[in-house]
Amino acid sequence: MEHETDVLVIGYGIAGACAALAARAGGARVTIAERAGGGGGTSAMSSGIFYMGGGTALQRDLGVDDDPEQMFRFMAASCGVSDPTILRVFCEGCPEHFDWLEAQGIRFQRSLYPDKHLCPPTPEGLLSTGNEKVWPFREIARPAMRGHRVDREGDNAGLPAMEALIERCTEAGVDVLPDTRATELLSDEGGRIVGARLRSGGEEFEVRARGGVILATGGYQMNAAMMEKSASFLVEAAEPIGTPYSDGSGIELGTSVGAALEALDAVHATASFYPPPKLIRGIVVNALGQRFVAEDGYHGRTAAHIFEQPGRKAYLLLDSECFGYPELAEFFNYSLIDAWESLAEAESGLGMPAGSLEDTVRQYNEDARDGCDRLLGKYADWLAPLDNPPYAAFDLSVGAAKYHYHTLGGLKVDAEARVLGTDGKVIPGLYAAGSCAVSIIASAKGYGSGMTLSSGSFFGRVAGRNASGVAARSPSGKQHAIS
Ligand SMILES: Cc1cc2nc3c(=O)[nH]c(=O)nc-3n(C[C@H](O)[C@H](O)[C@H](O)COP(=O)(O)OP(=O)(O)OC[C@H]3O[C@@H](n4cnc5c(N)ncnc54)[C@H](O)[C@@H]3O)c2cc1C
Repeated sequence: MEHETDVLVIGYGIAGACAALAARAGGARVTIAERAGGGGGTSAMSSGIFYMGGGTALQRDLGVDDDPEQMFRFMAASCGVSDPTILRVFCEGCPEHFDWLEAQGIRFQRSLYPDKHLCPPTPEGLLSTGNEKVWPFREIARPAMRGHRVDREGDNAGLPAMEALIERCTEAGVDVLPDTRATELLSDEGGRIVGARLRSGGEEFEVRARGGVILATGGYQMNAAMMEKSASFLVEAAEPIGTPYSDGSGIELGTSVGAALEALDAVHATASFYPPPKLIRGIVVNALGQRFVAEDGYHGRTAAHIFEQPGRKAYLLLDSECFGYPELAEFFNYSLIDAWESLAEAESGLGMPAGSLEDTVRQYNEDARDGCDRLLGKYADWLAPLDNPPYAAFDLSVGAAKYHYHTLGGLKVDAEARVLGTDGKVIPGLYAAGSCAVSIIASAKGYGSGMTLSSGSFFGRVAGRNASGVAARSPSGKQHAIS
């Protein structure tokens, strides 16, 4: 059996849905192949935070001062992306993209959440989810709040976002093939990708797509063999989050036709010792009693630094002034190790070299009194001397604390969402977006909540627009106007 379409989208999460809508708006006939029984993917499980800025309508309505240049400077300095054009296109396009998301029926409350939180239980529309105020980034670009969260009480605000997009796809007449897995890409003699082989219920068939194929299959955190190569220690000691189909099949489809890969070691691991925010006034130290990361960063940045410490051990040290139990202690398995009357007892209790923790805290307290963290540049708002015993420590070590992770690396693409080969050239007819591709984020140390939903939706649209344009230009291409 063989089917024909203009644009074939593989995967029906946020990137696939947005690609399909954009291709359909360009007049193309669109088919989505989705391995699960319906659309949603990991996107529907998510917290519904989109990292956007540059002066979106939500930012403007709430009086948040931002512009594309400031956003670009921040992201260029922190996100580890090799192609600045991708970032430029994203930062400049964010305000329009936000309007488009709202026009699809995704709602964002006009309200701010001012505190630090992993994911607030209340539905405020704008929050701080990145590292903008972390040194040195705050000196490179003016910080702004950029976490745009979909309106929903509690967690899982990704669900209403995906429900809205799926409804729009149905209205637009996108053909969806559920329970259908893409197993192979088809190319012509010139190397152009012209379709895919699909499998559904034991039946194999081909779909030809004259405009191209868009890979939107999500990340690979569920593929233990791939994870072994990129961050093996996480496989044993941490928990992947996503659907079972976040297993990198789209990345493998891409490499089977010569695609290049990028940032496979970039894995965002989530472990947030705040809230309450006052815990940020404590210090995070390694097994040698040394500080190594400013405690006021986004928790994924803290985790990425912890993974580089000896034995991947780390402790949150608090004094009686800033002591509190992490609200998410149970979820992240943060255990209170003990409390001690002095720093000497604390370092001995934690098995640290004699004098090490005392030296660290002496230096930190001096800096805190001066309002300037000379070692790591922690923001002055979070600085206070730790000089009120007793001291207590929570265990943030890998293996003791529970880290949850999803991947950031994948297929190398350009700003047009075209997949690039290992020779650096575009693979004609092949596009990729979402967590199977690397667009705006290539470093776990720079990740901020919302960067995958925003880049997946944004570059999904770019891919859909481009593929539909190719379909329209192709000699055999017919225009299928949509109402
Ligand atoms: C609990 C949780 C909270 C999160 N919160 C946020 C957040 O607030 N903001 C944020 O930016 N990110 C968040 N993330 C990460 C984010 O959800 C994902 O990175 C993002 O949804 C990926 O979107 P996607 O479209 O690339 O992939 P997905 O949404 O996973 O969609 C991919 C689809 O492709 C299908 N598929 C896979 N292989 C094939 C194949 N071979 N053939 C056919 N179909 C296939 C899958 O079944 C799936 O439906 C969160 C993740 C989790 C687990």
